[in-house]
Amino acid sequence: MSHLGNIARDVKNVNHLIQFHAQIIHHCLHHQSYWIATLLGHCGRFRAPLAYARQLFDSVPHPNVLLFTCMLKLYSQFGAHDDVISLFGRMQSSGVRPDAFVFPTVIKSAGKLGVGVQAHVLKLGYDSDRYIRNAVMDMYAKHGPIEVARKVFDEMPEKAIADWNSMVSGYWKWGDEVEARRVFDMMPERNIISWTAMVSGYSKCSDLDNARRFFEEMPIRSVVSWNAMLSGYVQNGLAEEGLRLFEEMMDAGVQPDETTWVTVISSCSAHGDLRLAESLVGSLDRRAIEMNCFVRTALLDMYAKCGSLETARKIFDEMTVRNPVSWNAMISAYARNGDLMLAREFFDKMPEKNVISWNSMIAGYAQNGQSATAVELFKEMSTTKNMKPDEVTVVSVVSACGHLGTLELGRWVVDFIARNKIQLSISGYNSLIFMYSRCGSMEEAKRVFHDMPSRDIVSYNSLIAGFAAHGHGFEAFDLMSKMQEEGIKPDRITFIGVLTACSHAGLSEEGHWIFESIEHPEVDHYACMVDLLGRAGELDEAKRLVDKMPMKPHAGVYGALLNACRIHRCVELGELAAGQLFELEPENSGNYILLSNIYASVGRWEDVEGVRKAMREKGVKKTTGYSWVEFNKKIHRFIAGDQSHERTEEIYGVLAELGKRMRELGYMADKSCVLRDVEEEEKEEMVGTHSEKLAIGFGLVVSEVGAVIRVVKNLRVCGDCHLAIKMISKLVGREIVVRDNNRFHRFKDGECSCKDYW
Ligand code: ZN
Ligand code: ZN
Repeated sequence: MSHLGNIARDVKNVNHLIQFHAQIIHHCLHHQSYWIATLLGHCGRFRAPLAYARQLFDSVPHPNVLLFTCMLKLYSQFGAHDDVISLFGRMQSSGVRPDAFVFPTVIKSAGKLGVGVQAHVLKLGYDSDRYIRNAVMDMYAKHGPIEVARKVFDEMPEKAIADWNSMVSGYWKWGDEVEARRVFDMMPERNIISWTAMVSGYSKCSDLDNARRFFEEMPIRSVVSWNAMLSGYVQNGLAEEGLRLFEEMMDAGVQPDETTWVTVISSCSAHGDLRLAESLVGSLDRRAIEMNCFVRTALLDMYAKCGSLETARKIFDEMTVRNPVSWNAMISAYARNGDLMLAREFFDKMPEKNVISWNSMIAGYAQNGQSATAVELFKEMSTTKNMKPDEVTVVSVVSACGHLGTLELGRWVVDFIARNKIQLSISGYNSLIFMYSRCGSMEEAKRVFHDMPSRDIVSYNSLIAGFAAHGHGFEAFDLMSKMQEEGIKPDRITFIGVLTACSHAGLSEEGHWIFESIEHPEVDHYACMVDLLGRAGELDEAKRLVDKMPMKPHAGVYGALLNACRIHRCVELGELAAGQLFELEPENSGNYILLSNIYASVGRWEDVEGVRKAMREKGVKKTTGYSWVEFNKKIHRFIAGDQSHERTEEIYGVLAELGKRMRELGYMADKSCVLRDVEEEEKEEMVGTHSEKLAIGFGLVVSEVGAVIRVVKNLRVCGDCHLAIKMISKLVGREIVVRDNNRFHRFKDGECSCKDYW
């Protein structure tokens, strides 16, 4: 077999390895542990795929201790710690007695559970073996208690450098700077690892002077030492220092590795500073550094994050070899920039999409107001072979469902999460609270909140915002108290939520207390307070608050005032607020409409006409009002007078029948006057076919008897529709939930939860 030995020595890459394997099979030696163990050694050296190595291992019917050891080491080398443990289990159950070489590997992989393996070691009498001792000590140094590690260390008759180094890094890991330093000083001979441990130790506790001192004193440095110093600067926010060190490193002729590149380039990306990025690229150019696909991708990502998409695109186009990371960097760069067409172009062209590609694209749609497309793309992803959505995916989709107000779709995604056993973190649960709240199901939102393993401030704020939109003032109030009891301090968002809830629920006095309790109220809190006073009819008080605000009021403040003037038909103050709003947000048609509503409510038709004329002259475009209903996981959207839906005839039939019954009960369509929204349609007969009415008609046609009908509208619900929906809820004996751009209206038995103030 000596020629096989020669072949074994000549293996230089994976291809040689495979040829060697073929030779072994040819000589029928592939059932022998020795030869397969030799092959496994090569697998580790040339980083052959683990699956291939395992196949080699499995070709031996009765592997011996040597072969087990080789396979265990290979798993350990690739970080497959679970496989180490399960293979060790198999080794024990197959009766192969582990030798001293096996244990260090197994203890290292077992992490905290290494204590159990240690007991096994004691039983076999290997506990005096120095490699095993080091592994045991290292385990305690890494996972604690560090005192036990120290005890093992002190009891060692002879200490190798590895033992000293384990102690030094152990003390740094547990934040014991003094003891780390003491052990380092006691060391008889120090190597690069010891010095580097000191550099990264001091860097981690932000003592960069000492880190640099140790770095300078190092007798020799490896790329790992340079990286430690580099990430010390970068992680402490000193990007420019880091860049200078990088130049020194290049001048010293040290070849950067992947960690170096990631550290340097991502520090430029994190700062979003194009100047920093250009100076890095400049120094790479000057030194004519050879850049591989990995580095180029990092650079293009850096340019994209520094806002220079053109340069990023140029780098991408010039790359001859691209990996999925390069593609994903471009997709997420365009998506972040709101350029979804280009993002989608790259997404569609990408040869092998991975989960990150899908996530970037879905998040891109979700974050740029294209929730429906985000959901559609998720449906496609969920049926794509070998593609497993993760928490990032479902958080985007769940939030998109919240924005859309599509409860059925939302529940379907929740089901998907459970079926696919996707683990949710706090932010995952928070997105569920948001979704259920925005879909009008506070019961489910509350249930998620209560069932969460732990909560953060966002969990509280999301539920409070839900209560606010539903006008559940007391519940919002209670939740804020509960949160304080649990030691979480309310932030500005909490206060906005609770103030809005008080306002929507008419809890004037409680709102005052809250406002008084805010240490430094911000402009948004003032806006909430103006809204609260205004709704309660205390318009003079609201105006006084605006006048004495310590900061300049923003559109939200005047908007609240103007809406209050609409509710209470107060022309003079309304004109004043509208005047300010026309300057602050000249494009917003809603302000013109509110003012014209106010004029209409007191019969000042000439002024109504005047507002319309002003809109025309200034070229202010009316926002189209639309409403939608979810049915069979699809969104059915209507505009006023819409006849495009395939079930138009039935919808209009239902509405005509209801209209007849409503008129018998004394309903008169509010065609001409009070609170008519100009935005919807100027033709008066259109009042009967406003988008929310059509959506409800569709809901009645398709839903089961007695089911809740849920409608979402992009604008405020108009007065006539509000009155009509109240009557419809009574006539058909249904609960109808309408989410408009301001709050939820829950219609039941002829009443609305907003008590007619919205
Ligand atoms: Zn309407
Ligand atoms: Zn209402």
